[in-house]
Amino acid sequence: MKNIFFVFIAFFAVACTQQPQFVRISGHALGTYYLVSYYHPEGKNYQAEIDSILGEFLFVASLHEPKSEINAVNNNVDIVLSPMFQDIFNKAVSISEITDGAFDFTVGPLVRAFGFWNTEREEMTDEKIAEYLELVDFRGIQIVDGRAVKRNPNIKIDFNAIAKGYAVDLVGEFLESRGIEIFLISIGGDALGRGVRPNGNCWRVGIETPAETFLSRREVETVVQLCNSGLVTSGTYRRYFEQDGRRFSHTIDPTTGRPVEHSLLSVSVRDTYAWRADAFATAFMVLGVEKSLEMLKNLPGVEAFFISSGDNETFVITQSEGF
Ligand code: ADP
Ligand code: MG
Repeated sequence: MKNIFFVFIAFFAVACTQQPQFVRISGHALGTYYLVSYYHPEGKNYQAEIDSILGEFLFVASLHEPKSEINAVNNNVDIVLSPMFQDIFNKAVSISEITDGAFDFTVGPLVRAFGFWNTEREEMTDEKIAEYLELVDFRGIQIVDGRAVKRNPNIKIDFNAIAKGYAVDLVGEFLESRGIEIFLISIGGDALGRGVRPNGNCWRVGIETPAETFLSRREVETVVQLCNSGLVTSGTYRRYFEQDGRRFSHTIDPTTGRPVEHSLLSVSVRDTYAWRADAFATAFMVLGVEKSLEMLKNLPGVEAFFISSGDNETFVITQSEGF
């Protein structure tokens, strides 16, 4: 009896001191790569579940998936929208309101006409831009009894500036539902880190130095600790088109109807949730450094790191106070 008791104590002690196992998963999602790292007591691999969450997400918010809900809305197919679609919609509205339309998910017609929906770029005259701008206003579409109601049937929505962050949060929620509290998720660089690692450190992610072209080697400008937050970067340097020797960003200023043009090269936003960081990063890209810093004063918990181009090929760094 004494022996059994001793064995039991010994087993209990071993079980208590056993370190959680590190799991690292990678794959393709939303047209890019994802990486998920976490600690699990037995090192259980959740790749199949994560792939299926990200795969199903395409049917809600992806413009590339012909059968997605977002395409149904854009093509005026009358459907009852899923709770997830409605949740993304409401979150997008909230950021459009806070940023006074700098983030506006009804930029669709313009993004498409500028060729960023894998579409052919139209000749964008002032008249044409003015015509498309008539359709850009997040108040022009609402959800009533689960259905989209538009002021004008040509209104088209684009969740690309919030979708990746939202998908990151979805994976985070899934891991939490499995009792995993220490994880780092990145989809195409949009990151969410939770928990302190067994070595006592938070997760560390790099902010990239703006590159010359989309093929340039990636270098790290600075490293950010993510204990309990998302970090998302919007940049003008990876997705753009060139015309007459000038470079045009895929971020559209909803007041001018044109791609943003200023010395700001990238904005990285840290916030509790990746979806918010994602949407704010795009809004700040539109607003520029000064207006964004002004707005950030009234946004507790949101911090931003700006990289602008300075004289003689230098970079100018600006940060919000708490970054
Ligand atoms: P990335 O896709 O590189 O992560 P962003 O998160 O900044 O970049 O999203 C940019 C995308 O968001 C554009 O390709 C376009 O589809 C859409 N978009 C462009 N301008 C705006 C805007 N002012 N508000 C909301 N969405 C926008
Ligand atoms: Mg974004």
